[in-house]
Amino acid sequence: MTAATRDYYEILGVARDADAATIKSAFRKLAMKLHPDQNPGCKVSEERFKEIGEAYSVLSDPEKRAQYDRFGKTFDGGGGPGFGPGAAGFNDFSDIFNEIFGGGFEDMFARGGGGRGPRNGPERGADLRYDVEITLEQAFKGMEREIVVPRAQACEPCAGTGSEGKAPLETCRTCNGAGQVRASQGMFRIVRTCPACHGRGQAIKTPCKSCGGRGLTQKERTLSVKIPAGVEDGTRIRLSGEGDSGLRNGPPGDLYLFLSVKPHSLFERDGADLYCRAPAPMCKAALGGEMEIPTIEGERTKITIPAGAQTGRRFRIKGKGMTHLRSKERGDLHVELLVETPVNLTAKQRKLLEEFAKDCGEEAHPQTQGFFDTVKKFFDNGDPLVR
Ligand SMILES: [Zn+2]
Ligand SMILES: [Zn+2]
Repeated sequence: MTAATRDYYEILGVARDADAATIKSAFRKLAMKLHPDQNPGCKVSEERFKEIGEAYSVLSDPEKRAQYDRFGKTFDGGGGPGFGPGAAGFNDFSDIFNEIFGGGFEDMFARGGGGRGPRNGPERGADLRYDVEITLEQAFKGMEREIVVPRAQACEPCAGTGSEGKAPLETCRTCNGAGQVRASQGMFRIVRTCPACHGRGQAIKTPCKSCGGRGLTQKERTLSVKIPAGVEDGTRIRLSGEGDSGLRNGPPGDLYLFLSVKPHSLFERDGADLYCRAPAPMCKAALGGEMEIPTIEGERTKITIPAGAQTGRRFRIKGKGMTHLRSKERGDLHVELLVETPVNLTAKQRKLLEEFAKDCGEEAHPQTQGFFDTVKKFFDNGDPLVR
């Protein structure tokens, strides 16, 4: 907004420690003096009028005021991806005037700048959100998918006019075609949007039966959507013009696809890299050898395990990770070994293992030995820190 450079207290002419009642009364006085109805066509008072509105919207809100006092500005919370026309701040702004003086300010601000468009002109359709869940494999390859989106579209029987049988509109009787009605409120006159025709100046004689006069109906539309390879969980894809149709020939809104990628049973993803834990038979880990690893493209690749490999040993397979978005490059696949103890032994296997175990000296299991030694040393020598 415009008045950020001037001090809000100065704008309202109040002291920094002024209480809420003082601020409100200062604002009221200024608002009456500067109201555009009192100063028709005066750009300066129109600007000042907006300025005091902004100052008051901050200073009348204890939280915003505290923020302003500390930082010299306020932070409009979140706001998300900014859907739809008419940013939040501006709505709050006209609410302030409406709260104190009653309705009728919306249009004035809309004309003044930046807010929602005038009610009688074309209105942009709403943006829509569509959630799509895909698998990691689909995220890797990219895909084309059909989605069915319910959205507001121009009503066919009335061709979007809202008038039964496409009959021409009549001049609104409430406002005589002006789109606005004037009313006296308190000390000054207020211009309101005509409640009968919503500012159009024209009214529908008989509302269309299919859409109730809205000109729009809810319809399902099938779209073919291209999801590029390498998308990540949380990726947002904008499909321009695929949101709700606009009112009165206004442009359509946009459709946003929100992608989420299902967790995979084998692979975990970090950016373009993939991680997996691969079980290795105990004997293979002990003797060493080649082992096959599944890849995200549904193929197999090999790693070479050195003799004596332990659980937790990591291997990096270059170029077998995920695709990068908009690039041919691929990340890496990181494999962590998980040595698997044999189960369901036959009598013969059991006997062989028993013999093997008997034959094993300390050298065969140095870690096991070290495990006990650490504790034993502690008791033999005592803990030097305790003594
Ligand atoms: Zn009217
Ligand atoms: Zn209709």
